[in-house]
Amino acid sequence: MKVTFLGVGESVDENYGNTSILIEGGKNILLDCGFTVPPALWKYNSDPDFLDAIIISHQHADHSFGITPVLLRLLEDKRTKPLALFGQNIEALVKAQFDFGYKGFMNKITYPLNFLNINADSKVCVGAMNFEFSRTVHSVENLAVRVSSKDASICYAGDGRMTEDTEKLFSGASLVIMETKFIDKNVESHASVVSTLKLASKNKIKRIAMVHLDRHARKEKEKILALIKEYRVNAFVPEPGDSINL
Ligand SMILES: [Zn+2]
Ligand SMILES: [Zn+2]
Repeated sequence: MKVTFLGVGESVDENYGNTSILIEGGKNILLDCGFTVPPALWKYNSDPDFLDAIIISHQHADHSFGITPVLLRLLEDKRTKPLALFGQNIEALVKAQFDFGYKGFMNKITYPLNFLNINADSKVCVGAMNFEFSRTVHSVENLAVRVSSKDASICYAGDGRMTEDTEKLFSGASLVIMETKFIDKNVESHASVVSTLKLASKNKIKRIAMVHLDRHARKEKEKILALIKEYRVNAFVPEPGDSINL
C-alpha cells in the first residue's frame, strides 16, 4: 500500500492544510476531507475516476467540509464510477452540506454515491482492503480506522485521545498516523506528542506519523525531534505530499 499525506495540519494553520491521508492499494481511499483538501487532491490526481472511497472520521469542518467541492468537481468532470462514502451518519452529513452550500446540486449527481453509515463495530471491505473502527475521546464522536491488506496495516486516528479499544485496534500496525495537537499538554479530547510516543512503545507500533500539530507546537520541531529520540520510537513528522510504501 502507498500512503500519501495530502495534508498534515490542524484546522486553522496558514502554512499547513488540514490532515488528509490517501491510501492506494488496488483501490484508492481518501481518509478525511477537510476544507483545504480538495485542491491538494486535484493536484495529486485529477482523474475523475481516481477515488474509490472517502472515509470521514468525524464531522468537524477540518475533516469533512471538502466533501461537497470534491463531489461537485466529479460531476463536472463526468465521473462514471460509483463512489463509496463511509462515516457516522454520512448520508445526512453530505445532504446537509449540499443544502447549505450548493442547494439542489446533490440531486444532479449522475455517478452512483454509495453511503455507508458506520460505527465502532463496523467491518468494511473495499477490494482487498479491510477496514475496522474504534472510538477515540474527542469533542464529537470520532472513529479511528485500521486499514489492512495482506502486506500491511495502516491506522489513522482522526482526532482524539486513544481509548483501550483504540490501543487494541492499533496494536502491531505497520504504520499509525496519530493526531498530536500538542507536544505535552494533557487535554481531554486530543492526543499529544508525548502521550503518543508512550503508547507507541507500549503497543509495539512499528512506525508512527505525527500529524495535526497545532500551529504553535509545530514551531517547536526541534523539541519534538528530541522527544522522539528520547523515547526511542520509530516516529516522524511528515510534510504535505510525503509518501510511504508499505
Ligand atoms: Zn481536526
Ligand atoms: Zn476534531
